[in-house]
Amino acid sequence: MTKPQSWEARADEYSLYGFTDLPSVASRGAVVLTHGEGPYVVDVNGRRYLDANSGLWNMVAGFDHKGLAEAAKAQYDRFPGYHAFFGRLSDQTVMLSEKLVEVSPFERGKVFYTNSGSEANDTMVKMLWFLHASEGNPQRRKILTRWNAYHGVTVVSASMTGKPYNEVFGLPLPGFIHLTCPHFWRYGEAGETEEQFTARLVRELEDTIRREGPDTIAGFFAEPVQGAGGVIPPSKGYFQAVLPILRKYGIPMIADEVITGFGRTGNTWGCQTYGFMPDAIISSKNLTAGLFPMGAVILGGDLADRVQAAVEKIEEFPHGFTASGHPVGCAIALKAIDVVMNEGLADNVKRLAPRLEEGLRAIMERSEHIGELRGVGFMWALEAVRDKATRTPFDGSLSVSERIANACTDLGLICRPLGQSIVLCPPFVLTEAQMDEIFDKLERALRKVFAEVA
Ligand code: PLP
Repeated sequence: MTKPQSWEARADEYSLYGFTDLPSVASRGAVVLTHGEGPYVVDVNGRRYLDANSGLWNMVAGFDHKGLAEAAKAQYDRFPGYHAFFGRLSDQTVMLSEKLVEVSPFERGKVFYTNSGSEANDTMVKMLWFLHASEGNPQRRKILTRWNAYHGVTVVSASMTGKPYNEVFGLPLPGFIHLTCPHFWRYGEAGETEEQFTARLVRELEDTIRREGPDTIAGFFAEPVQGAGGVIPPSKGYFQAVLPILRKYGIPMIADEVITGFGRTGNTWGCQTYGFMPDAIISSKNLTAGLFPMGAVILGGDLADRVQAAVEKIEEFPHGFTASGHPVGCAIALKAIDVVMNEGLADNVKRLAPRLEEGLRAIMERSEHIGELRGVGFMWALEAVRDKATRTPFDGSLSVSERIANACTDLGLICRPLGQSIVLCPPFVLTEAQMDEIFDKLERALRKVFAEVA
């Protein structure tokens, strides 16, 4: 058998693609990349693309940040790998935990490391199950999340995820309960105000807790802004209303800040942007500015004390990954936090977020087929609709958002189709000129596709 020759054919031959629309790849070919320059990535044919998705929300410092690469190289030279079992761990791991608690909204806390956001959510669920059992409540195992949530792909985090595609795996597992997604524009009922919508969702939460039995619920997980659900900020007052209900029934609230953490929403944490205090935070992605696979569970003081007491009872927390707290990952994360918070990246998001919103709003207003613009900071979505007045979506078979994303790619712009939305979450290093390039290419792509399908 002769081996395939082109990069695209070799990619097809040997890859089992994940989260990839096969007909699109079959007709267009995979995009095989060699390197990056700031917010741009470059393919094997020398084509440059402005990656308005920061890779997968994570490459916030762009694709060629020298300081981050140097921090990685220095740590590889100094101490290239270790674990965090048996009370042995690297100095970088200790320093990062200290730093994460310092930059967290918690006054005190403890940190546990994983290799990904999915594993961090799994770890948090195991911690809750372990904690409740240790405190004499082994029946507290049910997990509350919301439809459209994305918490990952492992068996537990996929069960937490509120997406129909997990049915092909026979998921969710029993005991994972999904509540209404707080997207007022889409799920608000005729005549309902946004405040009434929020109140309805909070009633649903309390009814669900009562129906299931408050002492059967282990925890409630929520992204401050649903990311892979299509950038859905909470409806007005949502978290302020949800928190007291959870407190009333002693249910820990976990903020999944895998996307929203470290500046994406304009503040260090999404929970700060939306004014609520969770019991723990799940972090990943931006934590290492995408340069190392790493996730972290950051427990706030009270939960940390309770988990610590449970661990002390049996003298060991029987959980951990070989690469938990990897010294190179921790050195990169320390540098990434410094770069984002002290070298102007977070400030750039704050400064340019209103300009990004304004430009996208102008595009929406000029388009007959963009029904909603939603987002915050440097995470936005434009929702395509056939009819703006009635908010009627395009026929799914038209794959409108995929067509828009493909038209953008043809123009040298990467953005992501999610449902009928187009998502933009650019790297924090974006300049005004690069933002204008996004506006220009996106609008040209929208015009082309809407002329074809409308
Ligand atoms: N949680 C959220 C909010 C995410 O957006 C993601 C990934 O996109 C995850 C968890 C899972 O992270 P990972 O892909 O690193 O497992």
